[in-house]
Amino acid sequence: MKKSYRCWAEIDLDALRGNLAWIRHRVGKDAKVITVVKADAYGHGLRQIAALLMQSGTDVFGVANLAEATAIRSVGKGWPILMLGACLPDEIEVAVRDGVMPTISSLAEAELFSSAAVRLGRTINVHIKIDTGMGRLGVAVSEAASLIDAVTSLAGLKLSGLYTHYASAEDDARLSRQQCERFQQVIGRVLKQHAVEYVHANNSAAVLFEPCNLFNTVRPGLLVYGVLPTGKRRLPPGLLEHIQPALRWKCRVSFIKDVPAGTGLGYAQGFVTRRKKTCVATITAGYGDGYLRSGSNRAKVLIHGKRCPVLGRITMDQMLVDVSSVGNVGIGEEVTLIGPQGNDVIGVSEVADWCGTIPWEVLTNITYRVPRVYQGQQAA
Ligand SMILES: *Cc1c(COP(=O)(O)O)cnc(C)c1O
Repeated sequence: MKKSYRCWAEIDLDALRGNLAWIRHRVGKDAKVITVVKADAYGHGLRQIAALLMQSGTDVFGVANLAEATAIRSVGKGWPILMLGACLPDEIEVAVRDGVMPTISSLAEAELFSSAAVRLGRTINVHIKIDTGMGRLGVAVSEAASLIDAVTSLAGLKLSGLYTHYASAEDDARLSRQQCERFQQVIGRVLKQHAVEYVHANNSAAVLFEPCNLFNTVRPGLLVYGVLPTGKRRLPPGLLEHIQPALRWKCRVSFIKDVPAGTGLGYAQGFVTRRKKTCVATITAGYGDGYLRSGSNRAKVLIHGKRCPVLGRITMDQMLVDVSSVGNVGIGEEVTLIGPQGNDVIGVSEVADWCGTIPWEVLTNITYRVPRVYQGQQAA
């Protein structure tokens, strides 16, 4: 079956389900989970992942735009959806109609939502975001109280959530502590007066590093897919035994040749061989599939369970790798770009390091050209 693909991603739905179960175990049964599925579920395929997360009992979906919300609704109705971005003026009515919970950072936004809700005869649940140090969206801490008062008195709005976002939870314990304290200051007063269903701050890194301050809801993305946020902070060993990467990225060998020393390879002859004889394999993945070109001359892939260095520049559809140490590689054989093969494994974070980026970008960069093949009990 998979032999008909040149470059594909295998998604293990059992791993995903296990990761969500681990997150639930970590945060306790009283905490709600907003699973973040923006950017095509971090490249894993939004519809399939939404279906799986519905079956596995997620509480809320977090999205980056309204098209993602519509895709989720097409899979199953009834799940609350939180729009993490700010709605543009022309999206406000659509969000209200679709029953998507918006993020509100200012009185002006609150008023637009209120009048749209009144016009359409609806009451909508809204989340107010507090900027405690991320500087992207959210009301300033000093203005939070008056925005919250305004929202609770505007027609057509129900204050359903209060949240903030950590700027550096995987790196900076001090900043995270500060952000947490600022958030607590704001919510402490509000929660005495209003019942708020969702109070949340913790992305994946904060689920791992700030377990004492989960509020009543967490908001993980990367961790759901089994990938760890890379940073300076270290976790106790053994903590993540049960977290499993859900995605394996593969392609195939399409051509093999032996070349002598001094052979230039690829565009601009970005690599020139030095050994007397180098066995070079051409493989069927490139930056057109989303493998970042910055991995040129740095990245590695697995063939027969052995690490093969990428030689020269990664091109749109193909790249060259050194298979001299592998021996007897056949045309059509499987290459692992991300995931285990034999006794070795290439992690998303490792690829991110080679490409000078972060695991989130490696995953969301995998393009539409790469079919997602689902495996595990609930694969359709
Ligand atoms: C993307 C995002 C998340 C999830 O972040 P991870 O680091 O992937 O866990 C949580 N909250 C907001 C506001 C986001 O934009």
